[in-house]
Amino acid sequence: MAKFLVFMVLVSMSCVISVKHERKVINIAVFLDADEQNEIAILALSSIIRTVYSRTNYLLRPLIHRMHKYEVFKTGQLACSLLEQGVSAIFGPESPEINDIVQSISMSLQIPQFQTFWNSRLKTLYDHQGYNGNEIYTFNLHPSPTNLAKALATLVRENDWKNYIVIYENDEGLLRLQEALKRRNTQEPAIIFKKLGDRENYRSMLKEIKHTGMLHFILDCETENILEVLKEANEQKLLTEFHSYILTSLDAHTLNWFELKGVSSNITAFRLVDPSSNIVKEAASVWTLVMKYSEDYLHPYWNASEDIDLFNNKHFSEITSFNIRTKTALFYDAVNLFFNTFAEMEKKELLIIKPLSCQASEKSSHGTKLSQALKKVHSEVGLLSGPIKGFDSYGYRKNFQLKIVELDEKRFRTIGTWTPQKADKIDFTVTVEDRDTETKRKIQQMTFRVVSRVGAPYFIRKEDPPGRILKGNDRYEGYSIDLMKEICKPNNLNCSFTFEPVSDGMYGNYDPNTKKWNGLIKDLIEFRAELAVCDLTITYERKTAVDFTVPFMTLGVSILYSKAVKEPPELLSFSHPLSLDVWLYMFTAYLLISITIFLVARLNPNDWENPHPCNPNPETLENIWSIRNCCWLTLGSFMAQGCDILPKGISTRLVAAMWWFFVLIMIACYTANMTAFLTMERMGPTIESAEDLAAQNKIKYGCVKGGSTASFFKDTNFSTYHRMWVQMESAEPSVFETSNKDGVKRVLTSKRKYAFLMESSNIEYEMERNCDLIQVGNNLDSKGYGIAMRTNAPYRKSFNEAILKMQEMGVLVRLKDKWWKEMHGGGQCTKDKHSEDATATELGLDHVGGVFVVLAVGVCLAMLIAICEFLWNVRKVTVTEKVAPKEAFMRELHFALNIWARKKAVLNSASRSPSALPAERLSNKSR
Ligand code: GLU
Repeated sequence: MAKFLVFMVLVSMSCVISVKHERKVINIAVFLDADEQNEIAILALSSIIRTVYSRTNYLLRPLIHRMHKYEVFKTGQLACSLLEQGVSAIFGPESPEINDIVQSISMSLQIPQFQTFWNSRLKTLYDHQGYNGNEIYTFNLHPSPTNLAKALATLVRENDWKNYIVIYENDEGLLRLQEALKRRNTQEPAIIFKKLGDRENYRSMLKEIKHTGMLHFILDCETENILEVLKEANEQKLLTEFHSYILTSLDAHTLNWFELKGVSSNITAFRLVDPSSNIVKEAASVWTLVMKYSEDYLHPYWNASEDIDLFNNKHFSEITSFNIRTKTALFYDAVNLFFNTFAEMEKKELLIIKPLSCQASEKSSHGTKLSQALKKVHSEVGLLSGPIKGFDSYGYRKNFQLKIVELDEKRFRTIGTWTPQKADKIDFTVTVEDRDTETKRKIQQMTFRVVSRVGAPYFIRKEDPPGRILKGNDRYEGYSIDLMKEICKPNNLNCSFTFEPVSDGMYGNYDPNTKKWNGLIKDLIEFRAELAVCDLTITYERKTAVDFTVPFMTLGVSILYSKAVKEPPELLSFSHPLSLDVWLYMFTAYLLISITIFLVARLNPNDWENPHPCNPNPETLENIWSIRNCCWLTLGSFMAQGCDILPKGISTRLVAAMWWFFVLIMIACYTANMTAFLTMERMGPTIESAEDLAAQNKIKYGCVKGGSTASFFKDTNFSTYHRMWVQMESAEPSVFETSNKDGVKRVLTSKRKYAFLMESSNIEYEMERNCDLIQVGNNLDSKGYGIAMRTNAPYRKSFNEAILKMQEMGVLVRLKDKWWKEMHGGGQCTKDKHSEDATATELGLDHVGGVFVVLAVGVCLAMLIAICEFLWNVRKVTVTEKVAPKEAFMRELHFALNIWARKKAVLNSASRSPSALPAERLSNKSR
């Protein structure tokens, strides 16, 4: 309907045409590129001519010529011949190769020339011709090279690209980048330049690029070649979500991006002409009408009938705003600008357009006035490339607005704007929130390829059930799988994932010789996976190659060691509180003190006593301190039993008192040590910290090869740990293990001759299952496990948020409890520990058996002595009573066994003189 209306307007306007008279004909020279399809430019021109014809008293008469790039001389000749017809302005040519000659003619004859291409030589030409800076005759509507380069530099900076590859097609491209290069910090890594070459070379060039591992590219090539280059890049897997491209072409939006399949890269470009603006859309529909009704439409005021043939060779059934290239829009704007300015000036004074000759010295009469007006022109209406507010002293357009556009689902959408006035910044129209929402939407459509390293409890290969082979993620279980399940739950990121084991079974280590990574990091860098999830430690070195999420588990390096084996207590373990030396010294002291008392008592008069206290003048004095009694006294006090005879002299009492004091202290020490020694397990060599480990060489120690623990010891500045690393490296056989599992096995089988430096989380896991293992000392450092992904992965923020949310909701703790304490035999040692604690205070017979043995031996000895004493007595009886030994024996035995007999007759009292009896017998007798 809208088109119909436009058509009706055009038809009605053509009716008006016939009424007009006396038209002023304005010739314009138009040079088009013979190598390109110019039909839309012709349509644009037609629409202007018709509008001018219908609305004004002018007739714009285009003198169109299509030139090839190499036709420099011919172009010059043509330009001169056109000027001889009286030309008011020149439009084009479009290629820089033939522009110079036309520009030169325009400048010398002072005819305004309009350019619509990226012209880096405009300034150079002016300078060469001794231009004084006052008069310009060339008006370039295209953004100037300097401004375009500034816009590019700002975008590169805003994108935070540190290193990138510039893919350029011709040397002009390098000029476009000069500003971006100038603004670089010298410390930043170098930019790589790659020349595109012919189409056949795209593949080899892109393969080379792939090997560099770079992720950011500036692609500077003809608009027609963009899709070809990117299709090839897609085949080389250079169009993943990790790659980003900036296209320098202002016409990227006019390409058919549906031709490019499976692209997830960020592709950004600039555009000057906004296809979504009403003015551009309107122009497109008018041009479509012009195309459809060309012959009726143009006749009779377009004399260039051969141009009408252009429309018979239609490339488009309809022209949309996306078919309008910048060059065409600028050509349209140039003609409009020229005519409006011309018509405006003619309102004040008549401009005479004279035929001019290139050979003559005569200049145009209108050129200078028109150029002055154009230089300061302010035109906003009807321009497809936005308002034009004057030209600078070299003829470059002063103001314009570049839209920063980004490919989104096969169409470009505007994400920001750049203007020369605020050259150092881009006004982004897409907010951070918009970006987040978009990323979340993309994540929901993604199936993440996750790599992991097989190892309990993170990633465990399940046994296939009988008669069924497990497939996909069902083949595995573990903490990592559950973690991803939680992250990808519908109320979280709502994504999907597939797990695969890492190709070489390594965590990820950088080899400075080959300059390559291995393990999980390598798989990420080489795009084999988007995520790496397992007990992968966040380290500085790895962070230079990949990105990590916030840690989902925190830990530190610690020492795994095996518990002391309980040895059965020894029989004489009660003697352990005091060393053998002390026992020997004590025995010696006992003998010496007994002898001392004996001697001192003999010297001391108070210990010589009256044997008959009733007789005040005894003939003899008695001393009870025989060696036997002395030994009895010291022994009695040693056993804390006391004695029924005690010394009376001061010196003997002092000796006895000193002995008691000694005994008191010794018994206290013995008792204090007794409990510990009876319950204590006999230990081998003991370590309590990393310092202890470092200070000895009986116990070997090592860690996982190529892991972060090894790096910790290797790169440390702390002398103890460095010493440990030197020891580990020089140890024979090697103390390094390929996995934690092997390390644990070695600790268990080495009989406390090997300690394994391991991450505390894994130590906890092992200690839950193997009660013979212990963690020695505190953690040596503090770090965390994170999910690794390619640097600048767009989904990192969403993963961080998901992990933090899970942490706050206690999901991470629950997962850890499940895989540490519940699954696969967890929680075993917690139970054992409790039962051990319960019996810890009880002493077994083993601990005190020795005391029983000593008692038994003492009793047996006493029995033996008793028998000896009995036999000795029998012998005495035999001698004194002159009876047969057997009779004496039987009689004495009979008496001894008669336990009811409480009295025994003294058979021959005379034979036992009192003086010969021992002191105690004497005292018993006297009682
Ligand atoms: N988690 C370590 C890493 O990511 C491996 C084990 C270790 O070194 O103790 O390298």
